Amino acid sequence: MIGVLKSFDPSNGELVGSVESTAISEIEQIVNRAKKAQKAWRILGADKRVDLIEKASQEVGSKSEELAVLLSKEMGKDYRRSTGEVNGVAYGAPYIANEAKRAIEPEQRRGSVIEFDPLGVVAVISPWNYPLAMAVNLMIPALTAGNTVVFKPSEETPLIAQKYVEILNKYLPENVLQIVHGDKEQGQKLVDSDVKMIAFTGSMAAGKDIMKRASGSIKRLVMELGGNDPMIVLPDANLDSAARFAVGSSFENAGQMCTSTERIYVHESIAEAFENRVKEIASYYKIGAWDDNNVNIGPIINDTQRSKIIAHINDAVDKGAKLLLGGENHPEHYIVPTVLSGVNREMLMEHEETFGPVVSISRYSDLDEAIDLANDTIYGLGAVVYGGEDAKNVARQLEAGMVGINSGVGGGDAPWVGAKQSGFGYHGTENGHRQFAQVKVLSN
Ligand code: NAD
Repeated sequence: MIGVLKSFDPSNGELVGSVESTAISEIEQIVNRAKKAQKAWRILGADKRVDLIEKASQEVGSKSEELAVLLSKEMGKDYRRSTGEVNGVAYGAPYIANEAKRAIEPEQRRGSVIEFDPLGVVAVISPWNYPLAMAVNLMIPALTAGNTVVFKPSEETPLIAQKYVEILNKYLPENVLQIVHGDKEQGQKLVDSDVKMIAFTGSMAAGKDIMKRASGSIKRLVMELGGNDPMIVLPDANLDSAARFAVGSSFENAGQMCTSTERIYVHESIAEAFENRVKEIASYYKIGAWDDNNVNIGPIINDTQRSKIIAHINDAVDKGAKLLLGGENHPEHYIVPTVLSGVNREMLMEHEETFGPVVSISRYSDLDEAIDLANDTIYGLGAVVYGGEDAKNVARQLEAGMVGINSGVGGGDAPWVGAKQSGFGYHGTENGHRQFAQVKVLSN
């Protein structure tokens, strides 16, 4: 039986629209169609594949306003951020496709040629917080390498995903890119199906389940999972820049970002001044809906996530943290900008992803101790250090895939990569793109 998947505006709970959720029994047929379509897609060659992706992306760019409004309504982020995300994929997809095309060109070696074959059908499973960007980063290298893709977007943001796929499918041959709508159940069925690779962005819990299920047939995996990113502020840091970054990163996307700063360790000699400045900057932030130009913190995606953030704040306060700002009287659908000091290792937010607009500050006296605290986590996505001479040295000691020195993580032409249980495999750069291909050595 086919059900209906409804999508709600997180700022007011109103219905934005709905799609048909994919019947579990249909998923095998979808994968079979993708398998059949893959042969011709492979033969078409990378130049033509990239050409189609470029043409489709032009249309995405030409519809950026319409897409950004839909993204904002469904996910809650403000219009400026949604426009940035839509334009990011419109211009980013051709860039990724061209980079991926170069990555899969055969390499002549002494005595052999290395070729990069498609794997077959790739499942791309993505989250709601950057519903286009996270999908496109995995989908485009997969398609460029000659794989067909079955895409399962988050159940929170099916409409924007559907719209994007509809545009791409005006240009791509039939069944090269198909969509499966639904929640965990559809995701699991897709993972269990005869796909050759699962390119996943989402929570660690789902990642672990996917790994177990994929082991039966040794499916290839790219796992982009959650984080609990630390920030270390050294005694000689530029206090104003550090405070601005601390607030901006903790509140970005209402804190619903995998690399938002979740834990701040500030040296005791500057802690009071830092906390005061953080509080001052944070107090300028305003919560509200996507179409209010004065708003920079949108709603929280759903009640479950909102309750978790409140539980983390209450847990910290109960265990002795001090509320410098916010933390209570949250209007429905929102979390007010919150700043906590005196956070310690007993508190939930030190160990788990809070994923909300919360600045969480602890003080340290000894740098080695701060580095140990920053590293004392199963996560290893991003980390940031603000400071002078020692900053680079500290950055090298942090166990994270991406470390920002007096700046945020990632960016430029670098891969997006997690360490430890934040995942493995990655996207971006030639080596990242090659993960969507089978390395084949031809010798003679
Ligand atoms: P989620 O894991 O709940 O869901 C992600 C996707 O997986 C959804 O499409 C969901 O339906 C599907 N899914 C859930 N359980 C599944 C299972 N067992 N098998 C197959 N599919 C399953 O995550 P979310 O709440 O949508 O996203 C937030 C999480 O994503 C956070 O942990 C965040 O840090 C992480 N994230 C990581 C990155 C990164 O680049 N590392 C980027 C964005 C988000």
